Amino acid sequence: MSYLVFARKWRPMMFDDVVGQEHITNTLKRSISTGKIAHSYVFTGTRGVGKTTTARILARALNCEKGPTPDPCGVCDSCVAAINGSNFNIAEFDAASNSGVNDVKELMEAVNYVPMGNGANYRVFLIDEAHSLSKQAWNSLLKTLEEPPANVLFIFATTEPEKILQTILSRSIRFDFRPISEEAIFRQLVKICKTEVIEFQDNALRLIAQKANGSMRDSLSLLEQVRAFCDGELSEEATRKILGLVSIETYSKILELANENRVGEVIEIFDKTLEDGFDISEFLDGMLSFLRMLMFLKIKGNTVETSSINNILNNYSEGDILRISEMVSATQKELQYSTFRRFAAERLLVKIASMDKTITIQQVLDFLKNSGGGNTETNVEANNHLPKKEEKPEEKTENTPVETQTYVREAERNQCLRLTEKIPVDISPKNEENNGDLPQQEPMAEQPIIAVPKKQNKVKESVEELMQNQPIVAKIAEKFDGKFI
Ligand SMILES: [Zn+2]
Repeated sequence: MSYLVFARKWRPMMFDDVVGQEHITNTLKRSISTGKIAHSYVFTGTRGVGKTTTARILARALNCEKGPTPDPCGVCDSCVAAINGSNFNIAEFDAASNSGVNDVKELMEAVNYVPMGNGANYRVFLIDEAHSLSKQAWNSLLKTLEEPPANVLFIFATTEPEKILQTILSRSIRFDFRPISEEAIFRQLVKICKTEVIEFQDNALRLIAQKANGSMRDSLSLLEQVRAFCDGELSEEATRKILGLVSIETYSKILELANENRVGEVIEIFDKTLEDGFDISEFLDGMLSFLRMLMFLKIKGNTVETSSINNILNNYSEGDILRISEMVSATQKELQYSTFRRFAAERLLVKIASMDKTITIQQVLDFLKNSGGGNTETNVEANNHLPKKEEKPEEKTENTPVETQTYVREAERNQCLRLTEKIPVDISPKNEENNGDLPQQEPMAEQPIIAVPKKQNKVKESVEELMQNQPIVAKIAEKFDGKFI
């Protein structure tokens, strides 16, 4: 017998074998058991999630000699013919290569033939890649769907349901196939490796599950690829190499060096990664996955056994990780059009290694609330330790002037406040022309700490203006190294 690739050998033959789509397979099984079969189904979802496979199982289940049954036997003449693709009652139609109206008309002529053979209950028409059909082709189908002959079943499989006419959708039952979870793919890969007697490291299979991106079929093709490369056990290291996945240690090292602004060494690591045969896109994809892992560790407050990752978690705030992720995503987009891809990636790394840490608006607000009035020098020193978030500001107190309250409320209403440029801070005595809308400034001893014009959506400008006019804000800027990003 000729060699069968995993994707074909492990194609599910029963509803229970379809991974990760229980919400659909259970419903179909129930429909078959109760005899409530519709005339038309639309199966949607990304590639490799089981649409065509489920459609074929449904076709077999309806025509099995022991059926209709939710569990087609797989050995009767009807099932065997269906598996071999020679069952008269089951017609598969690839709309991607037969999208014209004449192709569909030919198909519709066959609709009028009654099912033939033992146990033949339905004539099933499986239209794959249904979104490729032309409008005229759909219209000729519509006529049949409006008045379908008894025992005729249409199954439309598509990755682009929005391209299917509303009139077709409204006459069909739609099932949305979900991307399969990494965990479900991993479990299936473990099962296959054990059955096929393939030795493996858990992490190797987890990497394959991750790279498959929700597609069971892709995961099986990748497994095949890795197995062909590995002599014996499927190791994590070999799997990374085959799948083009840069090691976590590489990304950890880059962020550790970036934290110390060691730009040159960061670029050296990147050069070495390219020399090892990794592609720039693969490098950036892996970086995003790494950042995603960091973000969730951060959000959940978890730590890991690896000390370098724990160091990164300590050194980078949630805001830093988000900003770096956005920068990586922007570079990925740029790569699609760039003729100098390497430089785009290098610029990204230079930016990451040179960037300043994020100061959240909450930190600034907390600081402001606790700054009080009067001797600013003393207050800045006294507030070196920022208060916890949950410490709510008190209502107007002697030490918290009305204007400060105003500023806090303005800023809290505009949580998106982010200044992306370093702001030059001028703490020299101001003159009246520069004050703009700001209230008239009083001498230092009596002046309010903060004065902000009451304009919505003007917080950024307000703070910029304040920076240039208020000594206390200058002090804050100094404390935070002059960087609000
Ligand atoms: Zn059968």
